Amino acid sequence: MEAEFIAWLRGRLAADPRVPVGIGSDAAVLDLPSQKAVVTTDALMDGVDFVLSEVSPRRVGWKALAVNLSDLAAMGAKPVAAFISLVLPRENALALAQELYEGLLPLALRFQVAIAGGDTNCWNGPLALSVTAVGEPPRCGVWTRGRARPGDLILASGSFGGSILGKHLDFTPRVELARQLAERYEIHAATDVSDGLSLDLSHILSESGVGAVLDLDAIAIADAARELAQSRTDGITPLDHALGDGEDFELLLVASPAEAARIASDKSLDAPIRPIGTITAERGLRGCYPGHPPTPLAIRGYQH
Ligand SMILES: [Mg+2]
Repeated sequence: MEAEFIAWLRGRLAADPRVPVGIGSDAAVLDLPSQKAVVTTDALMDGVDFVLSEVSPRRVGWKALAVNLSDLAAMGAKPVAAFISLVLPRENALALAQELYEGLLPLALRFQVAIAGGDTNCWNGPLALSVTAVGEPPRCGVWTRGRARPGDLILASGSFGGSILGKHLDFTPRVELARQLAERYEIHAATDVSDGLSLDLSHILSESGVGAVLDLDAIAIADAARELAQSRTDGITPLDHALGDGEDFELLLVASPAEAARIASDKSLDAPIRPIGTITAERGLRGCYPGHPPTPLAIRGYQH
């Protein structure tokens, strides 16, 4: 099956000068003008990250690449290449592998990601797939989580909550937005929201040794978060969904107040960005409404 699959795949991939040696050899060679490569990897499993009996394999393929591109975007990096490892259930393995690729290839094409290699195995278990993505750092150097300073503002792209209703499979990673920001602005810290807005923000806070106050009125709540809150009777509010659901794959950024003002008013960005809070010297995460004192905010999200 593997030989047949590789022949099919090679027919689908265009030559790429950044990959002088690609599929067909024991390992790949990447030709990167930058001295440094940014590398990230993520594995998805049937039953944990998706339910294959309920979603099309194309959406799974898209997501597997998209989550990695989102991590590159969170560092301000530009994607170059991806390596795809598939562990397929034995039955209809070839057709499933092809469908996964039919989902991820359009995303790779859109952001010029070369599929430079991978591995394909079959077994008597459920589908698992792992993607490793390689990117180039921006000229200003990669963004990390560790340089937020008291007085900085917290910014967020897009809207939050309710991603389980569809966005967690169909989102477009903020690759273009990250490129624009890295070229134009000084970002002190960044991450993407994979596990939950409050939880991912807490990682910036602990890495930077600071705290934050979120402006709860300023957080953009997704329509899906309202829909979810309305359709369930568990008392979880749309704001709770926005703060804790995860898999929004939006960017959380920290910048100086002056830089944040410039970013928030930049109409030519790929997605609108708004300030949602302030970094404080006092540790911990707090939330407040205008005219009210800050109160402690529970940090919620998906714990691995
Ligand atoms: Mg991430």
